[in-house]
Amino acid sequence: MRFLHSLVLLLGLAATQAQAWGNHSLVSYRAFERMPEVANASSVTVESLEAFLRAEENTIEALLASQEAWALAHLKKYPPRPAELAFAADASRTDEARRLAFLMALRVAPNSKFALYLQTDPWNPQSGSALPRGAVSSLPEAPGSSDSYLALKAGDQVSPLSALASATEEPEYGLDINLFEDNPSDWGGLYGFGTQPFGNPALASASQAPFHVAFLHESRMLYLAVPLIGRTFLLLRSHQFSTLSSLAFRTGHAYWGWRFAGLSLHYLQDLTQPYNAALAPSYSSAKLLTASALAMAGMPTMKSELLSVLSNSHRLLDRYQSECLLRAAARQQETGLEKALHAIDRDKGYPDWSDHYLRDVVSAQAVRAAAPLAQALSAAIPALSDPGFAAHETDIKLLDELSKRDGAERARLESAMAELLGNLGAHSRNGLRGILRASDPP
Ligand SMILES: [Zn+2]
Repeated sequence: MRFLHSLVLLLGLAATQAQAWGNHSLVSYRAFERMPEVANASSVTVESLEAFLRAEENTIEALLASQEAWALAHLKKYPPRPAELAFAADASRTDEARRLAFLMALRVAPNSKFALYLQTDPWNPQSGSALPRGAVSSLPEAPGSSDSYLALKAGDQVSPLSALASATEEPEYGLDINLFEDNPSDWGGLYGFGTQPFGNPALASASQAPFHVAFLHESRMLYLAVPLIGRTFLLLRSHQFSTLSSLAFRTGHAYWGWRFAGLSLHYLQDLTQPYNAALAPSYSSAKLLTASALAMAGMPTMKSELLSVLSNSHRLLDRYQSECLLRAAARQQETGLEKALHAIDRDKGYPDWSDHYLRDVVSAQAVRAAAPLAQALSAAIPALSDPGFAAHETDIKLLDELSKRDGAERARLESAMAELLGNLGAHSRNGLRGILRASDPP
């Protein structure tokens, strides 16, 4: 039992990175801006969540019941939603009560903002009235973040691209915080998700991780040793928001169609990041188990080194991606990364969208990319394995640091990143095609 406990800690720490990509909106603007279904779609009228829920109360009741049936049938280890949380239409209740019932039926944090806002695109700056972070998110902004928000109001017209791309970052605004019974919140005990499977339940960012990672291709040995790694909810969130998107399109609420599509695609995009799809890229299960066993026997060095490399790698990959994309935007110069995100002809190289796409296509590919990516990262940034690296990592200018490195190592990292963003773009568009296809009235 102590051995298992030690292993769970190991895995938990490996999975406490809440963020997968530096900023989903930025990559989504590029991935969708040349997709005809988005670029050519008419602008849409902004509508509050309350108005959407009031108008579609009965269809939402039916959809949420079918989501629960789908989850019970399709997701392994799915904890059923407590019956009292089911969404039941009630035209006489207040907007506020209906909204709360909806969020609790989805089992997302009831203090989620769902504000009317846009996240701006640094390539095409928009003017308008700025919103503070606190208006869109219940979580503070990450250090060094470049996010910027504009206020919308009901009745405004917005482009589908802005609504969609903005929402792909929205699941980072506190929706999945403190949903387990051992988290410090008023709702974790009501939701039926049980105790947090890994990570520190006292840390808000760690409580989100089981919704933003999915370890679908680990070895049998690891699943047997630590069954808790199978208790993740990324596939649930993806399905909930994609079917809500189709419902909104079908019933004439296009703003919420694009916005729920963006929310759903956040989870797909998280799964394209190898550090969210593989527990420990470039480490074998045997090595993980050994590190854990040694730590338990009082020799924690291997475990600490492993953890420090993993968390440094994950964070640096995010920063590298953000810094590259923001620099390209500031210079208004397209690089290989923007080209990869635009590469729409890659899309048809994959199977049609289905319930199995996330597992069989997205996750399988991310896991295959994990070890070569980890090698490219550590060759380009040797300081990764330095345990003290994390402490001062926010002070360094990553791109400047990299420019001092050997050109071949830098090129290898750039091409690994371009490959990942190319995958992210293709899967995001294929996911959206699946949603739009399901939105057509029968
Ligand atoms: Zn995420």
